[in-house]
Amino acid sequence: MDLDERLSPVLAAAAADADAADAEGRFPAPAVEALRASGLLGLVLPEANGGLGAGPVEFVDVTARLAAACGSTAMVYLMHVSAGAVVATAPPPGLPRVVDDLASDGALGTLAFSERGSRSHFWAPVSRAIPTGADTVQVKASKGWVTSAAHADVFVLSCLAPDDQHATDTNLYALCSEDNGLTVSAPWVGLGLRANDSSPMELDVVISEDRRLGARGEGFRLMMEIVLPWFSLGNAAVSIGLSRAAIDAAIAHVTATRFEHLDSALADLPTIRARLARAAIELESIDAYVHDTAARVAAGDPDVTLAVLGVKAAANDAALRVTDEAMRVCGGAAFSKHLAIERAFRDARAGHVMAPTADALYDFYGRALCGLDLF
Ligand SMILES: Cc1cc2nc3c(=O)[nH]c(=O)nc-3n(C[C@H](O)[C@H](O)[C@H](O)COP(=O)(O)OP(=O)(O)OC[C@H]3O[C@@H](n4cnc5c(N)ncnc54)[C@H](O)[C@@H]3O)c2cc1C
Repeated sequence: MDLDERLSPVLAAAAADADAADAEGRFPAPAVEALRASGLLGLVLPEANGGLGAGPVEFVDVTARLAAACGSTAMVYLMHVSAGAVVATAPPPGLPRVVDDLASDGALGTLAFSERGSRSHFWAPVSRAIPTGADTVQVKASKGWVTSAAHADVFVLSCLAPDDQHATDTNLYALCSEDNGLTVSAPWVGLGLRANDSSPMELDVVISEDRRLGARGEGFRLMMEIVLPWFSLGNAAVSIGLSRAAIDAAIAHVTATRFEHLDSALADLPTIRARLARAAIELESIDAYVHDTAARVAAGDPDVTLAVLGVKAAANDAALRVTDEAMRVCGGAAFSKHLAIERAFRDARAGHVMAPTADALYDFYGRALCGLDLF
C-alpha cells in the first residue's frame, strides 16, 4: 500500500471532525483511530518493528497534509513521531516491546519535556531523578504542556540525571500510561490547536533505571541529535499545512464572492491578488526550504545543523504572516467558521511558542553564525 492510500482515509476522518473537535476542545479520536489503522504511526520506525521505514521527506509530506485537514491531529502525530524516533534510537531495556507498540500496535507516544520551572528551555529540566534503590529513581516533575496528555500510551520524560554537574546533564525515560504517578492536572483550553489535549501533568513516579533511553546523562545528546531534527521538521510541516489550507480557502472565497453592483469578484481587486501572491510565494519558498532540509537530514548531511535550526522558526513565522493575509483578503467573512481560515489562523499561532521557540532558534542560529557555543 502506498502512502497516499494509507493517508487518504486519515485525511477524510481528520477533515470531517476538525471543526467539531476544535469547537468542543475535544481530542480528535476519529482521526487518531484512522492513523492507527493506516500504519502511519510507524511511518519512520524500523520495518523490523513493524514500521514503514520511511524518512524525513515522507514525514514532512504526511504531516503537512494532515495539518491542512486538522492542525491538532497533525500536532498529535508530530509528537508521536518525535517520541517514537528517540525511543527507537535508544530503546529502554525495561520495555522490550515498546518500539513495536509505537510502530505497529497502535500505541500513541508523546514528549513530556517542558517544565514549569524552565519553561520553554526544554533542554534544561529542573526536575531530578533521585536514586531510591540500586536500580530505581524517583522523579517529581511539573510538566507544563504534554500533547495528547490523557490519550498517550508512552511518554518520553526528561529530568536531570542523579549526579548531574550541569543543567544539561539530562536523562530520558520511557513511561507508560498505566504507570503509577501520572496525573493530568488541568484541562487544555487553548486559543489554537484546541483539540490536541496539550494539558499540564504532574508526575511523581518511581522508575526502574532500565526504562532509561541511552546511557546515564545521555538525554541531552538524544534531544539534540534525534528529537530536534524530527520535531523541527514536523513542526515546520504543520506550519506549512496550516498555511496551505488558509491560502486555498482564501482563493476559493475571493474567486467565488462577487460585488453584484459592480459585476466583479473579490479576485478582480489587484490588491487582493497581490496579497495572495506574496503569501503564496512565501509559502512555496518555505516549503522548498523545509523539503530541502528534510532531504539533507535523510542523506545524513553533516552540515545540516543550521538548516535544522532555521526551518522551524522560518516556517512558524511564515505561517503567522500567511494566515494573517488569508484572513485579511477574506474580510469580515474570515471571522466566521465557514471559511475554515480562522481555525488555521488560530492553530498557526502555536508553532512559534512551541519549544525551541522561534525567537530562541533565531538566537541559536545567530550564535552558530558567529561561531559561539549554542548553550
Ligand atoms: C499547543 C502546545 C502544545 C505543546 N505540547 C508540548 C508537548 O507535547 N511537550 C512538551 O514538552 N511541551 C509542549 N509544549 C510546550 C512548548 O514546547 C513550550 O515549552 C511552551 O509553549 C513555552 O511557553 P512559555 O510560556 O513557558 O514560554 P517562555 O519560556 O516563558 O517564553 C516567553 C517568551 O520568551 C522568549 N524566549 C524564551 N527563551 C528565549 C531565548 N533563549 N532566546 C530568545 N527568546 C526567548 C520566547 O520565545 C517567548 O516569546 C506545548 C505548547 C503548546 C502551546
